Amino acid sequence: MKHVLNFINGVYSEPLGGNYFENTNPATGEVISLVARSDSRDLEKALNAAQDAFKKWSLLLQDKRSAVLYRIAEGIESRLEELAQAESRDTGKPITFARTIDIPRAATNFKFFAGAAAQFASESHEMPGEAINYTLRQAIGTVGCISPWNLPLYLFTWKIAPALATGNCVIAKPSELSPTTAHLLGEICNAAGLPPGVLNILQGFGAEIGEPIVSHPEIKAISFTGGTATGARIAQVTAPLFKKISLELGGKNPCLIFADCDYPHTLKQVIRLAFSNNGQICLCGSRILVEEPLYERFKRDLVQKIQELKPSDPSLAESRMGSLISKAHLKKVDDYVRLAQQEGGQVLCGGRIAELDGEFQNGAFYLPTLIEGLGPDARCNLEEIFGPVVTLQKFSTDQEALELANASQYGLAATVWTENLSRAHRLGAELKTGIVWINCWLLRDLRTPFGGMNHSGLGREGGWEAMRFFTEAKNVCINFGPRS
Ligand code: NAD
Repeated sequence: MKHVLNFINGVYSEPLGGNYFENTNPATGEVISLVARSDSRDLEKALNAAQDAFKKWSLLLQDKRSAVLYRIAEGIESRLEELAQAESRDTGKPITFARTIDIPRAATNFKFFAGAAAQFASESHEMPGEAINYTLRQAIGTVGCISPWNLPLYLFTWKIAPALATGNCVIAKPSELSPTTAHLLGEICNAAGLPPGVLNILQGFGAEIGEPIVSHPEIKAISFTGGTATGARIAQVTAPLFKKISLELGGKNPCLIFADCDYPHTLKQVIRLAFSNNGQICLCGSRILVEEPLYERFKRDLVQKIQELKPSDPSLAESRMGSLISKAHLKKVDDYVRLAQQEGGQVLCGGRIAELDGEFQNGAFYLPTLIEGLGPDARCNLEEIFGPVVTLQKFSTDQEALELANASQYGLAATVWTENLSRAHRLGAELKTGIVWINCWLLRDLRTPFGGMNHSGLGREGGWEAMRFFTEAKNVCINFGPRS
């Protein structure tokens, strides 16, 4: 059986406690590897390596650091197929999705931040005749990066790349449910010439290695993406230690469809935004709000399109829906659908576990599901399900659409579908989400601020926001002194 080890000081290492746990392919139920079950002893070893490496790495000339990051991007590109296969096996996601979205974006993350580092500048503020201030933006030291399972290498590298580009050393932890591509990243970093100790990757569970990372006093900043409850726990643990934290958390994203939308385009994009990666993307729309005159037509066409989507063997190039991440998650999703029915919702399509044959009969497959008849206070319209389950609600005015959209404690992303320019701008300003897409979804410019409001998180990633997060700003004030 393959062993997924820790990557510490440039070397693959057994967990010091000697314990492993099973990694399962959720599409088949087959155990595919044994993963290092790390604890605080492994963290101490990784931290020593990171601290030894810090001075040299943080003082390296910027173009030399960027060159290493560009080589890591090339390494990811050159192993794209192997990484995509690993991502699909760990998560059950369609191989085509991993080939075209997950792994290319992981490479882009390194290229983007290698370039950003070359352009990153700090400010100066003159006090005429008196003094000049300049800002130093210095690497923080050793930082922690913790990521979830839904877009494993994509989100792992989205944190690691800016942390390294700004001269920090990193202790990174992937999700226990998707350990393999993070493991392979170590080999790629070694081949790219990343000095030992600069990036250390610890595998394991949140409580056993995640929590030691966030609570360690020598790790001065934590960049976290995951669930809102975990984010709240991290905020609680880190507050007395005055750590910098960036929290990218859950969402319950509204999708506002107006009668004047470009109908074929909207219908096609709604299928994408609701069911990509089985609805397991924090940015997926899960509350579909449709203007009254369009409601019945949209409902009929949406049901038809959803019924064309069938979960299938994720290793097939034509597969558009694979399995959910685990049997436990499958049960959670199904429980929400039962709850929706108890709350008075009608299942228009899907609404049950999908049964596949042969090697997939033990997989975690769920039929794409549409529910109507739930009000804004129903739990299925308030809580994140994070699966292929969306609800449909009707509205009559822009104001009603806005109220329904904002009736959530989350505030990550919203989409608006209209040809009315004034309405688009007005809603863009009034929606309480960190991201608003008008007539598009998941169109990402990596320079833009990325993150959510309220229960969707704290802080922003992307572009200069990430470069600033991973640096400590220091003002140096120089007095011009008396004129001679
Ligand atoms: P999760 O919170 O269970 O786990 C995320 C990571 O945190 C894992 O690596 C886990 O091991 C670790 N962890 C768990 N407990 C910890 C603790 N006490 N201290 C430190 N680390 C701990 O989330 P998940 O189930 O892996 O991911 C799904 C969630 O992530 C969804 O809510 C989704 O919306 C969210 N998400 C958000 C974004 C975003 O950008 N806002 C992106 C992707 C996913």
